[in-house]
Order: sequence, then structure tokens, then C-alpha cells
Amino acid sequence: NTSVVLRNVSKQFHRKTSGPLTALSDVNLEIAPGEIYALVGPSGCGKSTILNLVAGFDHPTGGSVTVDGQPVSRPGPDRGVVFQEHGLFPWLTAMDNVRFGLDVRKIPDSAEKAQYFLRAVGLAGFEKHYPRELSGGMRQRVALARVLANGPSVILMDEPFGALDAQTRLSMQELLLDVWTEFRPTILFITHDVDEAIFVADRIGVMTTRPGRIMTELRSALPRPRT
Ligand code: ADP
Ligand code: ADP
Repeated sequence: NTSVVLRNVSKQFHRKTSGPLTALSDVNLEIAPGEIYALVGPSGCGKSTILNLVAGFDHPTGGSVTVDGQPVSRPGPDRGVVFQEHGLFPWLTAMDNVRFGLDVRKIPDSAEKAQYFLRAVGLAGFEKHYPRELSGGMRQRVALARVLANGPSVILMDEPFGALDAQTRLSMQELLLDVWTEFRPTILFITHDVDEAIFVADRIGVMTTRPGRIMTELRSALPRPRT
């Protein structure tokens, strides 16, 4: 009943000028439901490639990727993604950014739902603000609310706080743990900040550069209280 499973996953990219590149080689990874799993490693080691495969943005060359027991074939609302760049629509308010995906899927009461999730990320009162009127941290809060509103079982985060100053980053790490306490999603969290990984994760996968493997896993000896 494991949430995210990669079995013997390999990924080659075929580049026009410099030939094939092995980004992942025989990666095995199992993330339990409700677990926060951080992937750390140097730039280019294959972290985003793993996330893209789980998101369904790309397909493995070999091996299998499943989420809640189902093979991943395309992106879906069961897997929300938060990138370093918030990706909000600049012409929509915070509320309308969160509602957008719900309205596309014709989900009822989208305004109430959007308001609820904006409140959950600490943005009550900011519903009518446009992204340009919000700080970097607040924009990432909206991006997280937008993902949460879809009710994903898995949230994939690729350096979500990498563009924020140190203090905002800390407050976002705390927010993430609060959000986890409330909604209990499974989270794959990519970062190259080891301190950040230690703060948020139950388990940390450390990747090496060549040939794109998870070298070792570290598990918290004192599990976070999960009441
Ligand atoms: P990380 O997220 O750890 O920085 P990536 O997963 O982005 O690493 O990249 C792993 C390797 O695969 C890198 O060498 C990168 O240049 C290469 N790569 C990633 N995406 C592509 C692509 N679309 N085409 C060609 N090479 C790619
Ligand atoms: P964060 O969004 O992580 O709290 P920022 O440092 O980016 O952090 O916030 C910039 C400014 O916006 C700060 O002055 C902060 O106090 C204010 N701010 C952030 N979130 C809220 C909020 N929910 N309500 C009121 N002010 C906020």
C-alpha cells in the first residue's frame, strides 16, 4: 500500500549534439503514504527527472513508476506540483488562481474551497490580491493552496523555497509541516539544502551525480510527532 514506487527506473536523454545521457540508472524508491521524503544531491544528479516521472511529465526509459498502485502515464490532479517559480497567472487574483483548476474540472463551490485553502496557508484576507501585490513567500503559499485545493494524495515540490530569503524560507518550512499536519499528503520534496531536508523530511534520499542513483537513505531517528 505504498504511495509512490519507482522500480529499477532508468532514464536516458537523447541529445542532438552530445549524444545520449543517462540521468537515472536503476533507481528504486518507495515513499509510504503520508511520508515526507526529501531528495538531496548536487545539481544535475537527476532529482527533477525523478519528480517529472512521478508527475507524469515524462516517461522512464526502463522500469516502472506507480502512484497509489497505478502506473503513471500522464499528469493528474492526484499529484500536485509546486516549483521554485510559483507559476501563478499574473492576471488572476489569489482566489481566482486557486479556483481556476477547480472551475476547469467543474467542481462545485470552488469559491468557498479556494477561500478555505487560502486560509489554510495563512492568507485569509488576501483573496483579492494579485500575485504582483504579494511577497515571494505569499506567492508560494498561493501555489500551495492551489495544489491543496485539488485534493492530491501526493505533492511534488521541486526546490519550492529556493528563491526565497532565509527567513521566509524558514516560515515556509514551518507552514509545510502545518499543512502536512492538517491534510497528511505524501510529499516528495527536492532541495539541495541539506538543513531544509533535515527540517522537513522523515526520510532523505541522497543522490550521486554519476550514474544518477540514490546512494543512501537517512531516516529521522526521532520521528516528528504526528498527532
Ligand atoms: P537535478 O534536478 O538533480 O539538478 P536533473 O534531473 O534536472 O538534475 O538532470 C539530470 C541530468 O539530466 C542532467 O545532466 C541534465 O542536464 C539532464 N537532463 C535533464 N532533462 C533533460 C532533457 N530534457 N534533455 C536532455 N538532458 C536532460
Ligand atoms: P511569508 O509569506 O513567508 O510570511 P514574507 O517575508 O515573504 O513571508 O512576507 C512579507 C511580508 O508580508 C511580511 O511583512 C509579512 O509579515 C507579511 N505577511 C506574510 N504573510 C502574511 C499574512 N498571512 N498576513 C499578513 N501579513 C503577512
